Amino acid sequence: NTLDSHILIIYGASGDLAQRKLIPAVFDLYRGGYLPENFALLGASRTDFTDEEFRNKVVFENDLFDKEGHEDKLEAFSQLLFYQDLKTYDGAEDVKKLKARLEELGQEFGTGSNYIFYLSTPPKLYNTIPKALADVGLNKPEGGWSRLVVEKPFGYDEASARQLNEELQSVFHENDIYRIDHYLGKETVQNLLVTRFANGFFEPLWNRNYVQSIQITAAETVGVGSRGGYYDESGALRDMIQNHLLQVLAHVGMEPPIRADAYSIRGEKMKLFQALRPIRGEQVAEQVVRAQYTAGKTKDGEVVAYRDAEGVPDDSTTETYVAMKFFIDNWRWAGVPFFIRTGKCLPLKVTEVVITFKNPPQALFAQYDDYAIKCDNQLIIRIQPDEGMAMEFGMKVPGEGFRVKNVDMDFFYRELTTKDVPESYSRLLLDCMKGDPTLYARGDSVEQAWAFVDPILEAWKKEEAPLAFYEAGTWGPEEADRLWDGIGGGCWRNPDSSLTEKR
Ligand code: NAP
Repeated sequence: NTLDSHILIIYGASGDLAQRKLIPAVFDLYRGGYLPENFALLGASRTDFTDEEFRNKVVFENDLFDKEGHEDKLEAFSQLLFYQDLKTYDGAEDVKKLKARLEELGQEFGTGSNYIFYLSTPPKLYNTIPKALADVGLNKPEGGWSRLVVEKPFGYDEASARQLNEELQSVFHENDIYRIDHYLGKETVQNLLVTRFANGFFEPLWNRNYVQSIQITAAETVGVGSRGGYYDESGALRDMIQNHLLQVLAHVGMEPPIRADAYSIRGEKMKLFQALRPIRGEQVAEQVVRAQYTAGKTKDGEVVAYRDAEGVPDDSTTETYVAMKFFIDNWRWAGVPFFIRTGKCLPLKVTEVVITFKNPPQALFAQYDDYAIKCDNQLIIRIQPDEGMAMEFGMKVPGEGFRVKNVDMDFFYRELTTKDVPESYSRLLLDCMKGDPTLYARGDSVEQAWAFVDPILEAWKKEEAPLAFYEAGTWGPEEADRLWDGIGGGCWRNPDSSLTEKR
């Protein structure tokens, strides 16, 4: 293949993400024949491992590998893995040691001096590691290239995201900074662009003239478990909406890019974020519902109330659920309400986008039954699990009169390919290896997304909007339904486990 030879360095390699997602994703690339011929992976963190111990931990003792029948491949793959222990992540001695090790591996594997540095560490190290790399010239290696992958969270608010951007951009070129958002690695999120821009018949309807509302739901069944301490610092707005769901929104709402490349697509996404109408002060209580789960029973069993979870203060006001209504001030979307909701301890794990189209101008068949209520023309885009799409429209019920029934036309990804849908992290890592940042977030758009959520966080901090509660295992607080008042119809579509089963 045509990929440049390189070394992938994972900082924080002893951690959960490296073991659960990153190394299995690199193995998938290896197994699929996508890696360049000359390749090595160097794990770096403070835990004391030899190369052999590291290989055992992340490959052979890692339950996430599909080992059966792949023993030979796993063995060969493990030989590409190495480990460098560090005293600190940003110390001068450590980074010199790392550089020497990279040069040694580069010679041994013929990878030259091309590097991807993946920061899979706590976020407080996102600025100090790149600076340490720059101190020894690893940001601009002679005769090679250097790329930086930065995990979420990217900042805590607009000011901290801006500062982090400035710090990173002072040592790496923006084009070499890959801010990862694993939602963008999902096939269905990318398919939103294909659906819209590779077909002639969706796009003419995709605007204020024909669309009644757009809603995005990202539901999780799990609570915070033992990660309460971490979660309490963040909350659902920061953890899910500022990044993942606004990225999904950008794919749903952006204008057609002039080309399918990073510059054009990311430029259109930025314009969409700039058009988000801010929600400030009193509007926050009207348009945004924040809530916390109380004790209850979910699909996975009994759950204690969020405030009783390990590491969560008894009086925490951190939200585990957010539902919001907002508008996009541009020609395409003027007046169309958008809704986003996300929460923990909901009845199903599912992420969906629902486009509801306007009713026809006249309810011709209303005399025959409750046509006007039933006949929602909706396009449902299932992002996870069971990726696919369904279109709902009214058809005549056979027999006398003109009774109308909603029917579905659906498409499932699993029907399109016999191969597994690639994991987000494999797809995104491969793009980074190719030097294609299209599916990574650009610095300015991350700041812009924060600029949209900051005033909401501020109002909450000042207690300007109440905190609601919902029982674990339900679809959230009643207050969220009220967001639909006054917009001329529509409601949340509470997804079923199957894409095409009705609410
Ligand atoms: P983690 O296990 O908590 O940390 C990764 C490694 O960082 C640890 O093994 C530890 O290695 C090192 N580290 C350095 N300073 C540390 C400190 N003060 N406290 C704890 N560990 C420290 O994190 P992770 O779950 O792998 O996630 C890595 C990054 O990806 C985080 O920023 C997280 O927000 C982000 N992320 C994670 C997930 C996920 O599913 N886990 C998903 C999305 C994003 P040593 O002690 O060996 O140095």
